[in-house]
Amino acid sequence: MGPCGQPAGWHTDHPGYGRCSWHGGAAPNGVKAAAEEQAYTQAREELAKLDVRPAGNPLEALQKLGGQVVAWQEACARLVNKLTDDQVRYPGSLRGEQIRAEIGMYQDAMRQSASVLTSLAKLDIDERLTAIQERDAALIAGALASALAGACLAPELAQRVRMDFASRMREISRAKAAAEAEDDDGAISGVVVRPR
Ligand SMILES: [Zn+2]
Repeated sequence: MGPCGQPAGWHTDHPGYGRCSWHGGAAPNGVKAAAEEQAYTQAREELAKLDVRPAGNPLEALQKLGGQVVAWQEACARLVNKLTDDQVRYPGSLRGEQIRAEIGMYQDAMRQSASVLTSLAKLDIDERLTAIQERDAALIAGALASALAGACLAPELAQRVRMDFASRMREISRAKAAAEAEDDDGAISGVVVRPR
């Protein structure tokens, strides 16, 4: 509803959004503003439908983002590395635009990587993730101890369960570390500077 009491977009071709026809709603700027209002409203509605879940662990989310940004930078670097000296020196006009776009993308990717990696470094992220994992491990161990106590198992049986559980947990943690080490194998390749 507008200040005059008419419904939003009253007597215009954008009913429900923007000003009424008496208060600028039909003027070009009024139409543009109404269209923007409608677009934002619809985008918000789509967002609400997506039922977005909050990131469970912001530190993990940031690490994941770091991996994605670095991978993107690497992909851009491959494009730039494919350019030959002649293409860079004597580009045709269309190819020239493409080359500028590829180099621009690479430069953006470098800036993005630098910014995410700087945030990660500032957060001392590895240490904090380890602290979270240790706290989780303590919670799990506590839950196991309660479960064993609740089950009234013979002491030697409870001890066997505890040892088996501990060795399975170590196995999981070894497998996880091995998978992470494998991820690191894909060394980051930057742009190769060719000798002139
Ligand atoms: Zn009005």
